Amino acid sequence: MSEWNDKVVLVTGGTRGIGRAVAASFVARGAAVTLTGRDEASAQRVAESLGEKASGVAMDVTVRKTVDEAVKAIVTTHGRIDVLVNNAGITRDGLLMRMPLSDWESVLDTNLNGLYHCSQAVLRPMIRQRSGRIINMSSVVGVMGNAGQANYAASKAAMLGFTKALAREVASRNVTVNAIAPGYIETDMTRDLPDDATDALREAIPLKRIGQPEDVAAAVLYLASEGASYVTGQVLQVNGGLYM
Ligand code: NDP
Repeated sequence: MSEWNDKVVLVTGGTRGIGRAVAASFVARGAAVTLTGRDEASAQRVAESLGEKASGVAMDVTVRKTVDEAVKAIVTTHGRIDVLVNNAGITRDGLLMRMPLSDWESVLDTNLNGLYHCSQAVLRPMIRQRSGRIINMSSVVGVMGNAGQANYAASKAAMLGFTKALAREVASRNVTVNAIAPGYIETDMTRDLPDDATDALREAIPLKRIGQPEDVAAAVLYLASEGASYVTGQVLQVNGGLYM
């Protein structure tokens, strides 16, 4: 029997891009996966396309009630929750000089407050069962910075401090907490970049290609696997060498 067959996984923001690829790779290995998005119909549609071990629920990571309901439903159905992938995230790019407070706040609310809500919601069941994996989707921008993304970079850098603090808090309960810092990955989030900017970026990446959601999914699988049971508080860079 595969190590994944009895695993219960929650992926936030699983309707598209990286989150969808993460959900798909867990389902392909036999795990029971709940993927979430803000719209119930699209979350369910994506889950159906992945197979019968996937389910899709509406959950806005900024609204604690919806987070608690989703986690409660998972624990009621499966009796446990093994992996939380904090993947939901947004950008609202612009130079700080002109950035409206609403763009600052909405990025921090989704990327950082969402991390707080979702992580806190799964801690009780994970601590009770004396095992769990929390995997936080940060960004290369959180370690390097990027002009026009002060709000996003601040949220993604803060995720790294959160990851290390929480890893220390829950290590004695056999719960690991790690972060992944993807580089430039081809998804809706990066689609609008002009072709010449994409070409320049590709040139700056030592592996000379833009990343795919599956590149990140493979790193998530590793951190969730038995093989990573001695790894906690770490930041795994998945960026083609863009930042070393
Ligand atoms: P996409 O824009 O393709 O997908 C974002 C996902 O997040 C969607 O499923 C969306 O669901 C969900 N989401 C957004 N806001 C909320 C919310 N308030 N509550 C619940 N779900 C929400 O993004 P990517 O796949 O590119 O990115 C995924 C993660 O990876 C993000 O955290 C991003 O910051 C990070 N990342 C991405 C990189 C890239 O180059 N693409 C690089 C580094 C990090 P829906 O719209 O259905 O509600």
